[in-house]
Amino acid sequence: MNPIASILDLHPALVIDGALATELERRGCDLKDSLWSAKILLEQPDVIKQVHADYFKAGADCAITASYQATVEGFAKRGLNEKEAIALIQKSVKLAIEARDEFWADESNRIGRSKPFVAASVGPYGAFLADGSEYRGDYGLTEKELMDFHRPRMRALIEAGADLLACETIPCLIEAQAIAKLLKEFPNVTAWISFSARDEKHISEGQVFADCIKQLENNNQIAAIGINCTSPKYISSLIREAKKATNKPILVYPNSGETYDATKNDWDGNPVYESFGEQATEWHKAGARLIGGCCRTTPEDIRVIASWVRSGNVILSEAKNLPHDERDSSVAESAPSE
Ligand SMILES: [Zn+2]
Repeated sequence: MNPIASILDLHPALVIDGALATELERRGCDLKDSLWSAKILLEQPDVIKQVHADYFKAGADCAITASYQATVEGFAKRGLNEKEAIALIQKSVKLAIEARDEFWADESNRIGRSKPFVAASVGPYGAFLADGSEYRGDYGLTEKELMDFHRPRMRALIEAGADLLACETIPCLIEAQAIAKLLKEFPNVTAWISFSARDEKHISEGQVFADCIKQLENNNQIAAIGINCTSPKYISSLIREAKKATNKPILVYPNSGETYDATKNDWDGNPVYESFGEQATEWHKAGARLIGGCCRTTPEDIRVIASWVRSGNVILSEAKNLPHDERDSSVAESAPSE
């Protein structure tokens, strides 16, 4: 079963979680490293599990795993062989599954909720480069080279039991197309594809967002499509652009609006909105059905989103029109979450 459709059948919106790295840093983890949160998989896995648990408590319907920057090639640079790298990538899924299962084992956590699912993060090639190019694209790689880069991690995440692949912060159309093509090698897997954007209409490398969506529209394994790690000020416009181009549910999980400086490995500026979680109601009104936060957002932001989603005052938006045949053909290869 497509875990997105299962939740959207019952609820006006699906609540995505918030930043992982920001929370790890707040808990004392040192992420000044090209492996970023993947470094903590090696050193402090229990802290990752605790952050997932806190997002479930805050109201998230899914956990995005700590595999964004975890790749076989990245770990090889740290002297890990392929087998060790695959084991660490799979550990990111196992930590999220454990946190989810412990959360769901407590019946008091189930009231008014659907069972959360585990979305395995598939970060872009640019995240492996760790030079900020996930916000630029322009890698100079072919579609085949990008498929070869993504294949081993994707296979590892699926085999570890992820419910869905969260292909995120994709800066360029060629990488989205490479991933879409690669999905066909895993025909029972469901994914979402999420781009990073540079303004109200264009993804990071410069292609028109609506045109990119149209290229992916016929891939039935893609269960939702949207934008993440982009300033919240562009999000309402980007949702309107997406609505013109797709019948799939639209997802948004922007960052706080601060900007990432790859040379310093740090964030500059200030959040765009005083209350990210309150602002998110506008994105729902504009037509987004999956809503959460990316970098610099917190469990408190997610708690605010979950509280208005589950308040009973939110109308099921007209965006609820994913064709049933599409839902039925998008079944996770791994054990379903329910
Ligand atoms: Zn982000």
